[in-house]
Order: sequence, then C-alpha cells, then structure tokens
Amino acid sequence: MSTRSSTNSPLTQARRVVIKVGSALLVESGTGRINRAWLETLIEDLLRLRQRGQQVILVSSGAIALGRRQLSLGKGPLRLEESQAAAAVGQIRLAHAYKELLESRQVTVAQVLLTLEDSERRRRYLNARATLETLLTLGALPVINENDTVATTEIRYGDNDRLAARVAQMAGADCLILLSDVDGLYTGDPHRDPAAQFIPEVRQITPEIDAMGGRPASEFGSGGMATKLLAARIAVAAGCHMCITDGHPRHPVSRLEEGARCTWFVPGATPIAARKQWIAGTLRPAGAVTIDHGALHALLAGRSLLPAGVTGARGQFERGDTVSVLTPEGAEVARGIIGYSDADAARIIGRQSAEIPDILGFRGRDELIHRDDLVLLQGARP
Ligand code: GLU
Repeated sequence: MSTRSSTNSPLTQARRVVIKVGSALLVESGTGRINRAWLETLIEDLLRLRQRGQQVILVSSGAIALGRRQLSLGKGPLRLEESQAAAAVGQIRLAHAYKELLESRQVTVAQVLLTLEDSERRRRYLNARATLETLLTLGALPVINENDTVATTEIRYGDNDRLAARVAQMAGADCLILLSDVDGLYTGDPHRDPAAQFIPEVRQITPEIDAMGGRPASEFGSGGMATKLLAARIAVAAGCHMCITDGHPRHPVSRLEEGARCTWFVPGATPIAARKQWIAGTLRPAGAVTIDHGALHALLAGRSLLPAGVTGARGQFERGDTVSVLTPEGAEVARGIIGYSDADAARIIGRQSAEIPDILGFRGRDELIHRDDLVLLQGARP
C-alpha cells in the first residue's frame, strides 16, 4: 500500500508545493466556525516546508461555509446569489484567520482571488502567474480562493480542486496536495462497497480510472472524486505530482510525509519539460523573430533571447504567444513564448535591455524570450 519513505516522496523533493484545503476540514460542521486548533497544525506543517527551503501556495476553500452561518442562511442548498453573498462575508473572515495565524509566526500572507477567466485568458493568466512568482520571490505565502462573489454560473470553477490544479500549473509547481475528506482513490465507493480496493498510485488516467470517480457533484463548493480526477489531469499534464489524502487528522502534511495513506498521480515529465513539450508542439506559431549569430550561440548554450540579438520580427503576436526563432539563414531553430507584443518587439529589437523603459515607457522583462519559455528544436546547430 502507500508506504513511501519520507526521502522518496514527491512532496519532500518538490521545490514549489500547492496545498488545497477543503471547506469540510476548515469549518466545523456543527458550529460553522473555523476549526482553529486543526488549522494551527496545518500552518505549522506549511512553515516547516518553508523552513527547509520549499515554496508554498495555499488554496483555501471555506468562504461560503463561513459566510452562510454569519448570514443565517441555514443548511440547505443555496441559490447562486446567496452563495456569492456568503462568499463575500466569509472570505474576509477566512483571510483574517490566515493573517492572524501566519503573521504571528512572522510570515506575510497574501490573498489572491482568481476567476476561471484569470486562468483561461492568456493575458490574465500571465499577470496572475507573474504576481504569484513575485509574491513567492518576496517570501510571502499566497492564500488563494476563487473570486466567488463575481464569478457567475458559466464562468466559475465552483470547486477548488480544479482551481488548485490550475494554480499549480500556472506557478510551475511540482507537487499538489489535495487535503480532502477521503484518503485517496478506490475502485468503488468504500462506504458502500466493502470490496472496493484502494489505489496508491496512478501513472495514467485511463477510462477505468475515470469511471472510479463517478459523476461530478453539482452543488456549489463540493468537488467529489470526479473533480479531483479532472484536477489530476491538469496537474500531471503540467508535470506536477498530485496527491489525494485525508486532511482531517492534525498535522495532515507531516502525516503524509510519515507515510499516511494517499493516492499519488505521477506525471510523465517535470513541469519545465511539460511546458517545453507544449511550446514545441504549438501547431501554428503566431509569428517569427530572426536572430544574429551571437544570439544563436547564446541560445544553444541555454541562455535567454535578448532584444539585442534580434534582427527582425514578423507576424501578429501578443505577449504570451508562441513564436518561431529563425537563424540568419531563415531556418527555424527554436520556439518560445514571447514577452512582448509585435508592436513593442518592433521597437526594442536590436537594442540593449537597459533601454527598454525609455523606449516603451514601462519596464517589462529584460528578455524577449526567457530561457524557461524557450525550446530548441531538434538538430539545432550554430
Ligand atoms: N470557493 C468556495 C469557498 O471558498 C469553495 C469551493 C470548494 O469547496 O471547492 O467557499
């Protein structure tokens, strides 16, 4: 069964970890209040990961569950606008609890509320990604939830499992932990079927695995196994390990490291390799840039593409589009995600990066294509 030693766990090896906490763990069902005693032990676990050099992002549910009590909305199903009102009231309490618990331990907490569009629209995706990167670099702990108050039915996740997987993808995380009220994936519903078998590891999400998830739950805020499997698809495609484990016990993350039962979903590649495969596989690059021999050597040595090494650009592209990189002779040598639009690129090519703010009037990235966003095509030679 799941008896990974703490040394080989994808969790201990991860550089960047996303941890998702479900409402059922965070909010006591009887009182509708935050389960503080439990939450403190989770926070201690997260701080331990940070102390040993890992970056941590928390995706926390609980806004609706907390707000509905405050608004006396009872226990039955809520209408969309009631859920949204509850989220508005609950989110502030949630954020306050995290602020208190983290800042008393000298950790700065940052609240990030995302909508589905923030992860699906390229520019917003890039902005959200840059914000997360900056927060982590500055040592803050991002606490993320869906922006439930503004997300309408058609454009909301409704479950934080998929939101957390998107966040993991966006942040290039290598490990996603779903702290849940089940301890992993079973061949059937273990509450109803005594013969249901536990599955410790999934290397491929086959139709048989999908069938084990059952139907997606439709009620606001309850994911169920089906949405966890959808989350797993997103995570492993992004090169991120994902784990489902029971979050109820105190110190749930430490317990996981000590070998608590869980299901691991194992990706075929690392986050960077997965991203590069995706870039290389772009069917129609939006444009192309031609580079000089100096830049070509830099690229082949694994460096970024700077505007100074570019001699021309063509096509219509936005920041975040994939473009081809051409040698002076016109051969496609690489593909990459460009950091500037065609109009801005046209103005900065051939110039030094230090001149960018003067030319464009804002300070963008130094690189036209960052090396993490650049993939050399097979057979690339000087
Ligand atoms: N965003 C919802 C909330 O904070 C929870 C969604 C979920 O439970 O997955 O209440």
